[in-house]
Amino acid sequence: MRDYAAVLDRAAAGGRITPEEALDLYRSAPLHALGSAADAARRLRYAGTEHIATYIIERNINYTNSCVTACKFCAFYAAPQSDKVWTRDIADILRRCAETVELGGTQIMFQGGHHPDYGVEYYEEHFAAIKKAYPQLVIHSLGASEIEHMSRISGVTAEEAIKRIHAAGLDSFAGAGAELLPARPRTAIAPLKESGERWLEIMEIAHNLGVESTSTMLMGTGETNAERIEHLRMIRDVQDRTGGFRAFIPYTYQPENNKLKGQTQATIFEYLRLIAVARLFLDNVAHIQGSWLTVGKEVGQLSLHYGADDLGSIMLEENVVSSAGAKHRSNRMEIIQLIRSAGRVPAQRATTYEHLVVHDDPADDPVNDHAVSHLSSTAIEGGTAHPELKLLAAN
Ligand code: SF4
Repeated sequence: MRDYAAVLDRAAAGGRITPEEALDLYRSAPLHALGSAADAARRLRYAGTEHIATYIIERNINYTNSCVTACKFCAFYAAPQSDKVWTRDIADILRRCAETVELGGTQIMFQGGHHPDYGVEYYEEHFAAIKKAYPQLVIHSLGASEIEHMSRISGVTAEEAIKRIHAAGLDSFAGAGAELLPARPRTAIAPLKESGERWLEIMEIAHNLGVESTSTMLMGTGETNAERIEHLRMIRDVQDRTGGFRAFIPYTYQPENNKLKGQTQATIFEYLRLIAVARLFLDNVAHIQGSWLTVGKEVGQLSLHYGADDLGSIMLEENVVSSAGAKHRSNRMEIIQLIRSAGRVPAQRATTYEHLVVHDDPADDPVNDHAVSHLSSTAIEGGTAHPELKLLAAN
């Protein structure tokens, strides 16, 4: 067996590793040594607060499923001419925002398809309305793909689109649509999406305008190990220039109801190894998020021992990956327990990762506060807790 200790020691101490070293570690380093080094790197970065792991309460608000981009892994969209298309009007969206505030949520993720008619004006109008009614809600939404689409619809540059929706109320980008950034796997699963280079270029424009983002990665649609590491390299290179990526969030492909039909999936081991290598390789990205929604709660707990410092959100509403088969559900009290039983002190965080509430003492834990994931979800048959929220007829 090769000796990985020197590379792991360097990375654990905050030193930089090359893409070749990262790929070597990802392919072959012993799992426990990899996790241990990643955990050491996390503890070093968060010295003083390394005992804490965070979560956030948010709601995804899906404004339409109409989409012209037809990604093969997606179970959420409907072709614009389809009778399955729906849209939500502004009153419905504001009502969902009101519920988010009532349930202690601090962030909304406005998420939808690439509607053929929705240009910059649509987002300006909606973000302004949300901010006017609920200035306390952080709008952490969209990504480079939506910017590319809306700027094309409105005939403006990406820079102008970002400036305008930021002025209207967008606080930060959720970094959706990164999928796989290298060309081969991206073209295979999302042939109509902008290139990975363009995705990064738009994120870089946003960062330079002062609009930060998170970054994501969709694992398990047939990409190679080398392509996974190349995805990380592409993010790290941009981050060296901008520092605008707050977090990296890998999640696993869900195989139901989409054109790929589950031909391939990432295993739990591949996922945990990726979390660890991301912590070691992305020495310039502060936060690594575990995804309990796609890999399950126990694996989410494990990710906290493989370099992750955050367990993501209690999504009061989520329809996109749930449509593709993600069946895990949770609530605030359970997430707190998951973090605590993983050996950390749970803390509710803001979008910008400040600790809002540190749950130091179990005696002070919230009791039945109704912050439950998927409280409202079109992905669950008959599962909406709010049947009065009607979908509009297809337009
Ligand atoms: S992932 Fe987004 S862009 Fe792709 S088909 Fe689904 S809704 Fe459309």
